[in-house]
Amino acid sequence: MLHDVAIVGAGPVGATLALALADGDLDVVVLDARASGEILRGDRSLALSHGARLVLERLGVWAELGALADAVTPIAQIDISQAGGFGRATLDAAEQGLPALGYVVSYRALQAALDRALARTRTTIRHGVAVASVGGTPAYAAVNPECGDLELARLAAVADGSGAAVAGIARRRHDYGQVALIGKLWRAAAHAGLAYERFTPDGPVALLPEGDHYGLVWTTTPARAQELLALDDAGFLAALGRHFGTSAGRFDRVADRRTFPLVLEYAREPTAARTVALGNAAQTLHPVAGQGFNVGLRDAWQLAQVIVDTPREEIGDRTMLARYVRARRADRMAGIAFTHGLVNVFGNDLPFVRWPRGLALTLLDALPPLKRAFIRTMLFGLR
Ligand SMILES: Cc1cc2nc3c(=O)[nH]c(=O)nc-3n(C[C@H](O)[C@H](O)[C@H](O)COP(=O)(O)OP(=O)(O)OC[C@H]3O[C@@H](n4cnc5c(N)ncnc54)[C@H](O)[C@@H]3O)c2cc1C
Repeated sequence: MLHDVAIVGAGPVGATLALALADGDLDVVVLDARASGEILRGDRSLALSHGARLVLERLGVWAELGALADAVTPIAQIDISQAGGFGRATLDAAEQGLPALGYVVSYRALQAALDRALARTRTTIRHGVAVASVGGTPAYAAVNPECGDLELARLAAVADGSGAAVAGIARRRHDYGQVALIGKLWRAAAHAGLAYERFTPDGPVALLPEGDHYGLVWTTTPARAQELLALDDAGFLAALGRHFGTSAGRFDRVADRRTFPLVLEYAREPTAARTVALGNAAQTLHPVAGQGFNVGLRDAWQLAQVIVDTPREEIGDRTMLARYVRARRADRMAGIAFTHGLVNVFGNDLPFVRWPRGLALTLLDALPPLKRAFIRTMLFGLR
């Protein structure tokens, strides 16, 4: 049987694509290695843009998230600063006439809401099915599970988070030689929606308000991260205080410390015969700018629009894939360049970039049009 679309991976991006296609008259099958109801990944705080909210609203997932206490935390302000240098910028939602600069949600809460929304559709979902490979011919894509039945489709949309399942899509890789140490932090004072992004000699540190606590993303070297993980809670909090400074006040509790390697991986051409990679399978970004899922969500939304606008017999053909690639090129490349540029300008401690960096922050704070352009990029991406 030939499906219209086979989606490999029902993570946040694959599930969004499946939901965006659910109302169409299309035969869609979704395969995910996770068992039904299981959420594999350890939790992390995701910063969602206003554009991401609009997409999730259209799909009925935002209301689902909102029904859970503390699942969504609006970001009212972002305090951006650098350690050991001048320059500070404050981005303020009210100043820009916006309801919020973005929203923090937990990966697990978002995935659970997407899973529930998807379960209510008529889409066929094969849980617990790990895909070994995806191969395309001019006529169809073949999705090969490690065990169980092969699926044939006009188009295979690979959203497995790594692109590992797909042959024929080359990915470039840049290893930042750093890791992100993440965890949850509590302090006595309420966060009032204030997020912090601080550029330090080791790399950026972000504090994202989430529910009753802050989500920490601390960029550092693998060796330093091991030392930090080995500290007891009190020692860790003291090290964070020395590294971050006093602007966020004093944290008195930490939990769930873990590390992730930081790499940039992206496919310049995210397509092969009858196959398209999207989300992290197409681009895995440094978390400094909180862009990864937001760019992936726009991949899913745009792909769904292109698919529903294409006659059934032409789904997955070269013309349709070229149309998708064209529609996504500028925003994908801008997301990659914006994130990589932030890491390079703000993620090192060369003295000759320290003062231009301070100047950039001061200018950002002083010039409303520049600030608006920066906020627009963070909120909606570039088009
Ligand atoms: C520390 C950290 C902080 C981050 N912060 C942010 C942030 O603030 N904002 C933001 O936008 N992004 C952020 N990101 C990035 C964000 O987590 C990713 O962009 C997002 O998870 C990508 O979703 P995805 O669906 O493409 O992939 P994933 O989340 O990896 O999901 C992949 C899915 O595919 C399934 N799968 C995998 N392999 C197979 C297979 N072979 N067969 C079948 N199924 C398979 C998995 O079970 C899973 O369900 C952060 C990342 C890190 C590491």
